[in-house]
Amino acid sequence: TQLIAYERSRREKAESEARKDFLTSLANRKAFDEQMRLEGERARRFSRPLSLLMVDIDNFKAVNDSLGHEWGDNVLRVVARTIATTIRQTDFAARYGGEEFVVILPETEVDDALRVGDRIRIAVRENPIDTPRGLLLLTVSIGASSNRTMTSDRSLDSEADQALYLAKRRGKDRVERFSDI
Ligand code: GH3
Ligand code: MG
Ligand code: MG
Repeated sequence: TQLIAYERSRREKAESEARKDFLTSLANRKAFDEQMRLEGERARRFSRPLSLLMVDIDNFKAVNDSLGHEWGDNVLRVVARTIATTIRQTDFAARYGGEEFVVILPETEVDDALRVGDRIRIAVRENPIDTPRGLLLLTVSIGASSNRTMTSDRSLDSEADQALYLAKRRGKDRVERFSDI
């Protein structure tokens, strides 16, 4: 039985590694997709609110260009940690890809999602990174979407993404919700 327990713990470890982003230790895209499907079904079945935040680091390319990739990687880790420590235990944060993160907010209406987004935005702003070139001020732009305010033919992902695009267009370092206009 010791051997079986060992095999099981090894398998569980491998499975959890497969759902983790190496760089930031957050959940990865695959884990996010699974979690999103699960929460989406739960929210639909029980008619519960569900929101999604999409977080993108502003002008991140400039960090890589001026300080190098290793500092870029550092910045990703710092922002990941800031997001993880700002949200609730029942929320789910993941690295969506590149310098983009997502947060699933179960049982959350869009107005509360905007508040969480703003908390993340401010936490990132207030947490500059000490680099050889001096303090690096970071900001993020955030798009929010929610199942209760969703237009029928779109997914939460694509609506959050469109909201993010709006936040970028309106000047970055801000949170926007999806809107049709
Ligand atoms: P915006 O404010 O509009 O978001 O501009 P941006 O510079 O943040 O966005 P852009 O999409 O132009 O650049 C994203 C950069 O992210 C380009 C790519 O080199 C960098 N990047 C993506 N993944 C990683 C990574 O894992 N590590 C590092 N160091 N850089 C990464
Ligand atoms: Mg991006
Ligand atoms: Mg960016």
